[in-house]
Amino acid sequence: MARGLDEKVAIVTGAGRGIGRAIARRFAREGASVLVSDIDPDPAHETVAAIQGNGGRAALNVCDVSDERQVAAMFEAAEAALGPVDIIVNNAGYVGAAPLVDETVESWDAMFAVNVRGVFLGLRHAARCMIPRGSGCVINIASSAGKQGRANLTAYCATKHAVIGLTRAAAHELAPHGIRVNALCPGIVDTRFWEMLDPVLSSLEANPAGGAWERGLERIPLGRYEQPEDVANAAVLVASDDASYMTGQSVSVDGGMVMH
Ligand code: NAP
Repeated sequence: MARGLDEKVAIVTGAGRGIGRAIARRFAREGASVLVSDIDPDPAHETVAAIQGNGGRAALNVCDVSDERQVAAMFEAAEAALGPVDIIVNNAGYVGAAPLVDETVESWDAMFAVNVRGVFLGLRHAARCMIPRGSGCVINIASSAGKQGRANLTAYCATKHAVIGLTRAAAHELAPHGIRVNALCPGIVDTRFWEMLDPVLSSLEANPAGGAWERGLERIPLGRYEQPEDVANAAVLVASDDASYMTGQSVSVDGGMVMH
């Protein structure tokens, strides 16, 4: 039976854990050959092993997405191991929380280097590879924090708003080349991201540990926490030919938290 991503080659950044791992595994199940890229080789190796254990095709790549040379090398590695790249999911990112008045320039710059420069570099190298072939698909992982603000998350919210802006401008520029650029905006996803964020945010919001995570559920109309697979389901749809008339969109996948 034909699958949605048969014969496609995809790169997923930050694919060692969480959302990136779920997308990489789901893409492979849909027939794609996947370059599993992450800054940390050990979890990325586990993702590759899981894909190969299910009979899928995957290769391992170590890349810090904020480093231009490493991003260029990531595309070379994908081509050499799997073939020309059809899809990239710019997923790698992280969150830090601080009151605006205490936010340091170093922390601000570090978050922009990964969450924004990393997406820009992945997008630009993808465009360079895809333009001569006249087709391609880019999916940027933004966030509900790219559509609304939250106290103590000014830097993170700014990075994710930037990802949505990048997505829109690039979609305009690359549409004549047959390249679609979209973003997904997850909400509150059950990954290590929240293990890191909750203690800091809970304390800043004067809640006991676990409070930011637990109170988040009240904001989700569908009444359950998001799983990485929920984002992967949407990523398959956007990457597939069923979404061939869709570009420049920033699609909320958040249980109804943000309805625009
Ligand atoms: P996660 O479980 O922490 O996974 C993120 C992965 O990205 C980790 O494997 C991490 O490696 C890797 N990474 C971090 N910095 C990197 C870099 N410079 N270059 C390459 N890889 C890097 O987090 P997640 O929840 O899956 O988040 C994935 C994306 O979804 C992020 O862009 C995040 O902002 C976005 N998002 C998450 C949520 C949520 O609630 N979880 C909601 C909305 C959007 P290490 O483990 O070695 O750091």
